[in-house]
Amino acid sequence: MINPRSKRPRVVVVGGGFAGLSAVRELSVADVDVLLIDRHGYNTFQPLLYQVATGGLNPGDVTYALRAFTSRYRNADFLRATVTGVDTEQRLVQLEGLDPVPYDYLIIGCGVTANFFGIDGAQEHALTIYTRSGAIRTRDRILTAIEDAAQDREGAPDPTVVVVGGGATGVEMAGSLAELRNAAVPIAYRTLDISRVRIVLVEMTDVVLGPFHPQLQAYAAKELRERGVDLRLGTSVQQVREDAVVVKGPDGEEQTIPAAAVVWATGITASPIVGDWGLPTGRGGRIDVGPDLRVTGHPEIFAVGDVALDPENLPQVAQPAIQGGKHAGVQIRRLLAGSPTETFRYRDKGSMATIGRSDAVVEFPFGLRLKGLVAWLAWLGLHLFELMGGRNRLAALINLSVRYFSWPRSLNIVVGDPAD
Ligand SMILES: Cc1cc2nc3c(=O)[nH]c(=O)nc-3n(C[C@H](O)[C@H](O)[C@H](O)COP(=O)(O)OP(=O)(O)OC[C@H]3O[C@@H](n4cnc5c(N)ncnc54)[C@H](O)[C@@H]3O)c2cc1C
Repeated sequence: MINPRSKRPRVVVVGGGFAGLSAVRELSVADVDVLLIDRHGYNTFQPLLYQVATGGLNPGDVTYALRAFTSRYRNADFLRATVTGVDTEQRLVQLEGLDPVPYDYLIIGCGVTANFFGIDGAQEHALTIYTRSGAIRTRDRILTAIEDAAQDREGAPDPTVVVVGGGATGVEMAGSLAELRNAAVPIAYRTLDISRVRIVLVEMTDVVLGPFHPQLQAYAAKELRERGVDLRLGTSVQQVREDAVVVKGPDGEEQTIPAAAVVWATGITASPIVGDWGLPTGRGGRIDVGPDLRVTGHPEIFAVGDVALDPENLPQVAQPAIQGGKHAGVQIRRLLAGSPTETFRYRDKGSMATIGRSDAVVEFPFGLRLKGLVAWLAWLGLHLFELMGGRNRLAALINLSVRYFSWPRSLNIVVGDPAD
């Protein structure tokens, strides 16, 4: 808890994601007061949101109270507020509906949001799984469509789900949906013809999992197809409607695919509001930083994680955010000690993506590649290890176990009222 009369330098950290939390942790040993600000009262573990969207995990399994986090550190406090601007002259962070907060050092780690690339109807009708609420909305829409089809409600369309984007998020989402359809739905909905539950994965390029080795890309595509995913490579989305998506295939032909839900799993951009903060921005609206992660022209401000556009153009995934947040914390300690800042050196720990139960692909930077069960066990261990707090880890472990080991026998998913 920050003492209001404290004379210590104040570090404000905007965003309680991977980057922000890593920065707070690093600064816990510094002689500073740290104020963490987030528009939500909780941290979201985004890599498992697709599990929430497909009913495998509860929202509480992948979220963690930020106040519980800051209460672990004597020099840290939390404020739930939305940042609307930064007054770099007065060194104030402006907040929606609250007084501005002063800072001596500022670390911005406010992440990114979905980019719909201006595609007609996408913003309006597509679902996203970037946030807790987005994942819950997606889950409710999909499961309600299955329920309606099973009850043969008049006019209930086939519960087709179209996933847009064959990157890790799209592959994980499509694989998980295939599992829901193949393992759980036939038990829970005995009268539903499961061939009506179609899962279509649309990818503009000729491969899934673009950044992975071609062998792993081919493996993932084969596994998805074997699980009954209708994989459309070389296919781009032209329009998203309330009940359909219009795509253009490799032959240039347009086709309308009726869809109960369209899940947007491609493209990210900085929140448009960041562009109004008077800081230099570049590609994707991200904040320009130098090699030490300080914002160009603002030596007391760092930008870290997905929102930062660093000279190396690092991937927008968890590890650069975790390592970047830590680096910013270390640099502030150096500056307070009168030392110059250091260049950020990223340590690549590899990439992974799941395809379904007992199936994943993992690629390490030193050339080792894993697939299948062994890769999936590595994925499971890493994700549970990375989940914050013992409560989350235990709950996630229990719920994932239920999903993976008992789904064929039970389906216990609470579906919200679509009118809520
Ligand atoms: C569905 C999905 C799956 C993913 N899977 C993986 C994966 O398997 N492996 C992997 O490495 N990466 C994965 N990623 C990417 C990874 O989650 C991100 O790279 C990482 O979360 C970035 O961390 P961050 O701290 O920069 O931002 P975030 O984790 O997005 O945190 C940003 C925080 O800032 C807050 N915020 C935003 N704007 C404001 C504001 N104006 N005022 C106050 N607070 C604000 C938000 O509420 C949020 O808590 C996935 C991402 C998604 C969306």
